[in-house]
Amino acid sequence: MLQKIIIAVLSLALAAVGGAFAFSLWAPKAVQPAAVAPGAAASRFLAPVAASLAPLTAGPIVSKSAVVSAEKPGGTAFAYEYVPPKNASLQDTFATVRDRDLLRKLPEIQSIDGLLTLPAPLRFLTAECKSVDAFYEPERREIVLCYETLEMLYAQGEATAAASELGKDFPEQYVLANVRFILLHETGHALVDLLELPITGREEDAVDQLATVLMQKFASVDETPTQTAENLRMAANWFLQRSKGQYNLDAYADEHALGEQRYFNLQCLIYGHDPVGFVSIVSDGDLPEARAARCPAEVERVERSWLRLLLPHIAPKFQMTEQQAQRYFEQRERERSKGAEAPYVR
Ligand SMILES: [Zn+2]
Repeated sequence: MLQKIIIAVLSLALAAVGGAFAFSLWAPKAVQPAAVAPGAAASRFLAPVAASLAPLTAGPIVSKSAVVSAEKPGGTAFAYEYVPPKNASLQDTFATVRDRDLLRKLPEIQSIDGLLTLPAPLRFLTAECKSVDAFYEPERREIVLCYETLEMLYAQGEATAAASELGKDFPEQYVLANVRFILLHETGHALVDLLELPITGREEDAVDQLATVLMQKFASVDETPTQTAENLRMAANWFLQRSKGQYNLDAYADEHALGEQRYFNLQCLIYGHDPVGFVSIVSDGDLPEARAARCPAEVERVERSWLRLLLPHIAPKFQMTEQQAQRYFEQRERERSKGAEAPYVR
């Protein structure tokens, strides 16, 4: 099964290379009236967690002085910018993401915007990079998503849709799923740096885990857990797309795990999050049983670890205990499950 997936994915990757990029499907839907004020909730797609966390900050704040504000401070707001490219061929992509205000439509980024107290502001940019890339730049405290990456993802989405008759919405869905995962991965690097979070083992693996947990916990309320799993599986497939299947010493020495390993790690986190609901991941052969058996415990550890790492940095306005956070996430997942047509992937 895996071999089949890898072959299919690699042939799609090849098909995508050289194919002239067209943002045609994405662009027309993309253009929205420029009525979206920066920072404003643009649609129900955005469900800022900050607002829904408020009830967890139990009770009125007891103050001995009338001078002290009853309002506890919120966290550090993110900044967003769409940098115009110099390369004329990237103009359409730039205009599309700027007009759609893409960075403010990513539910997990919006959910944690203002939730944490950071020692310095963090900026999210889209920009021309002259290569397919996305990265965190610690000196400038910037997370950069390259237009070249967006174009490459869109071409891959189009090629996949054409090969599998997935429908015209697929390329956009594929781009958004991957952009969410990529930017959350880079956000993980930024948080490790800014908050000096203790990480043992490979940081690349840790921030892949964080990206997964954030998508599972902070997807918008109108996205069912099954849809989130589908989005995560699209991100997992991208690891295979980038893999050459053959490795030299540089690849083995790289700070990233091999694409196939990142693929299986992600499958494990999706399956382990709901082993009954996502049993097909194992029965379809996308995750070997030997690994699958340990995934529920692995997920529990990963979720608890990241929660404990981040809780001390939650802004006073939203502070909560570990138990309160668990309850909040359980309640949120129940709400998201309500909209599901079928509770399981089959
Ligand atoms: Zn990384």
